[in-house]
Amino acid sequence: MTVLPGDTGRGVCLIIPLDDCILNTSNTIEGKILTSLERLSQIIRVLLWEKNKSVNLSPIQIQFLLYIYLHPDRHCTVSQLAERFQLTKATISDAINALVTKKLIEKKASLADRRVIQLHLPPGGYALASQLVNWSAPIAQALSGFSTSEQTQLYKLLLKLIDGLERKGVMSRSGICLNCQYFQSNPGGDPQYPHYCNFLQRALSNSELKIDCPDHEPFPA
Ligand code: SF4
Repeated sequence: MTVLPGDTGRGVCLIIPLDDCILNTSNTIEGKILTSLERLSQIIRVLLWEKNKSVNLSPIQIQFLLYIYLHPDRHCTVSQLAERFQLTKATISDAINALVTKKLIEKKASLADRRVIQLHLPPGGYALASQLVNWSAPIAQALSGFSTSEQTQLYKLLLKLIDGLERKGVMSRSGICLNCQYFQSNPGGDPQYPHYCNFLQRALSNSELKIDCPDHEPFPA
């Protein structure tokens, strides 16, 4: 269900199933892709809620723990979480403070700049995050039924979609190669390694294209 602000004359919101919102495009391939993406996002929410029940954390708290687990310290500040999850710093701080109280996250001053506060996982938070990281196992299992070439093709198309949404300003940066300053496409014409990263100084295959790359450098605005 999607809640849309609507003027009904009584100052209440209209609650419309998302399928109805995109009904006018449901006979087009774009509409069917949108419906498929909505279904997948529902599944992701359900899987995160399942984890939530077992550990008594909100889905967003689980996502923060996993983000910190999977990213280097320099990418783990309240500002970076706010940008990545497209939430206000106040909302991020509330969730982080709750995790600090539960001793699942610690705040420490950066060694490079003592004014910057970075978020770390203490042993308890690290142990929990390493259990939670398998929340997506059912999706990974379904994907394992795809051939390598199907998986690569799907990944490339999803990266292209994310890139398009980022360029339109709809999505915050996801650290993907396609819009990184270090990225070069098709430099040597090798079909196995059609890309090149000037940071890593090596060619990349399609399946090696990165998302959430810690070394991603956006183009200046
Ligand atoms: S730095 Fe990371 S995001 Fe940028 S091109 Fe290299 S691998 Fe891709």
